[in-house]
Amino acid sequence: MTNLMTRPVPRPRVLDIEAYVPGKSAAPGGGKTHKLSSNETPMGPSPKALEAYRRAGADLALYPDGAASDLRGAIARRYNLDPGRIVCGNGSDDLLHLLAGAYVGAGDEGIFTEHGFLVYRIAILAAGGAPVVVPETNHTANVDAILSHVTPRTKIVYIANPNNPTGTYLPFAEVKRLHAGLPGHVLLVLDEAYGEYVRAADYSSGLALAGACDNVVMTRTFSKIYGLAALRIGWAFASAEICDALNRVRGPFNLNTAAIEAGIAAIGDAAHTQMAAAHNAKWLDWLYAEISGLGFKVTPSVGNFLLIHFPREAGKSAADADRFLSARGLILRAVGAYGLPDALRLTVGTEEACRLVAAAFADFARGSGGAARHD
Ligand SMILES: *Cc1c(COP(=O)(O)O)cnc(C)c1O
Repeated sequence: MTNLMTRPVPRPRVLDIEAYVPGKSAAPGGGKTHKLSSNETPMGPSPKALEAYRRAGADLALYPDGAASDLRGAIARRYNLDPGRIVCGNGSDDLLHLLAGAYVGAGDEGIFTEHGFLVYRIAILAAGGAPVVVPETNHTANVDAILSHVTPRTKIVYIANPNNPTGTYLPFAEVKRLHAGLPGHVLLVLDEAYGEYVRAADYSSGLALAGACDNVVMTRTFSKIYGLAALRIGWAFASAEICDALNRVRGPFNLNTAAIEAGIAAIGDAAHTQMAAAHNAKWLDWLYAEISGLGFKVTPSVGNFLLIHFPREAGKSAADADRFLSARGLILRAVGAYGLPDALRLTVGTEEACRLVAAAFADFARGSGGAARHD
């Protein structure tokens, strides 16, 4: 028997994946930069989390608690949940992948929306499934459109609520309508990476739905408002059966000890989280008013970032703005990979960064191409 394969070949669909490209962290030319490209918090983590992280460094020879029991206990106390229905992940990306791996196979379909988070496509393809992309309305997920794309092959629907990179959200009534329209075997994943920032009165966390329904998972992260992106901590709340499946396929020690200890301290520091939310509320509104006041179209956002749209005109395009801002050390996120080549995403930074951004947009709007550095 001759084997014509001369080297290992990945499963079908793996080579259809476009590797995720993170936001830039530096501007050309060096100098002081403000990284406003990855939706990290400018407030940093709780000092208590930093202290716990440093303490964990004293004992690195032992394996972490593979069940992350104390962290699940701390999350359960904070949200009044059954800790047996929480699974932690190495970032929520880990959990988003594990869900596709456990529930989607060759021949299955996974749904997400037009400008949905890129990890969903990667997770579905990596699992061997076919991504089904549903059009949005005004950069917002459209429940009727999603339901009209469900087929007998659909296994999973991912919704970020609020969504990244658009900043838009589905009111809880719409989330419930979506769930009610899905067949019982379809897993609905509600990714609430920015849930802690939302102030809209008609928004509600999917925790209640995940608590009551067998086919709903809610995921959250310590990477955004908790300021612990470097440590990679996410968690999912779901039925006992879904948690059982996740616990079978996850890495046995998918959270490290420093992450577990810092996470426990972070979720216990409510004052720090409130301070971060209050800073965001103030400066998100301020940036929206300043930038839209200059004539730019800005998508209203409930997260910690804004999607800003540009005309496709020489000297005024998103790429021109990106170059202009980068030259001042202001690093935004190009979102062409999200099907938004004429937009940039701006994370709410420190007060200093917000004021520099507003001034730079004003200069860019006036067409002062000089792009002089301000620092
Ligand atoms: C940032 C983000 C996450 C969080 O990813 P982690 O792996 O927890 O850092 C998840 N979903 C969305 C939509 C995000 O923007």
